[in-house]
Amino acid sequence: MLNKLRVIRSHGVQYVRNLRTQPVSDLFRGRPVISGSISEEERRMVADFCPVNAIDRNSGVMDLGRCAFCRECEFMLPEKIKFTNDYRIASNTPEGLLILPGKDSHPSVDEDKIRKNIRRLFRGALKLRQVSAGGDNSSEMELSASGNVNFDFGRYGIEFVASPRHADGIVITGPVTENMEAALYICYEAIPEPRIIILAGTDAISGGIFSGSPALRRRFIEEHHIDLYVPGNPVHPLTFINGVMDLLGI
Ligand code: SF4
Repeated sequence: MLNKLRVIRSHGVQYVRNLRTQPVSDLFRGRPVISGSISEEERRMVADFCPVNAIDRNSGVMDLGRCAFCRECEFMLPEKIKFTNDYRIASNTPEGLLILPGKDSHPSVDEDKIRKNIRRLFRGALKLRQVSAGGDNSSEMELSASGNVNFDFGRYGIEFVASPRHADGIVITGPVTENMEAALYICYEAIPEPRIIILAGTDAISGGIFSGSPALRRRFIEEHHIDLYVPGNPVHPLTFINGVMDLLGI
């Protein structure tokens, strides 16, 4: 018995104690900060250079729902654009994902836009079905990690389930390809009301680098109310967990 206790002690603390404040590597690309002094010419330069049109030419506003987090704009203007390691970048509105020049605060959930009953019903337990709609398995792997021994979002009653009939909502990854369109509708219809929809990753939110491809069918996204947008390429487990916690008011 004593030996077993010694082994357990030697393992130390495996889990992240505070999912809100856990520090991450400086190499992680999270929330960008754009200097308020970025000039008109510089705005145009990075906007034209961005491979996914995530930066507006006129205002210099960056849309995290489009951003591929390649950091090319930062390399081009290191004095004006800086990617921090702040992983709290989820929002429940597309406007919430916009990074304005001169603004240095993380995106957040707009409490007034959260659907009625969502918090009351799911705050204690939220079961989610994940659908990879043409994803490349990167965000999918990170979402799986959200439930591992380190991040352990199960401590809040949040977990992924195998069947949509056991789920309260759907988490979509990937840009939604033609081949996955019907499956997405079928899965969603199998979830009882009031089902929530979470888009995880740049590809799911905007199509990402595949935006405009004839292989995509994004009708489902356009037709439905989205409860949470979780940017990232791929999504970091802490971005996902913090976004869901904000949505549920945990
Ligand atoms: S980091 Fe984002 S905004 Fe900057 S160039 Fe890459 S995709 Fe565009």
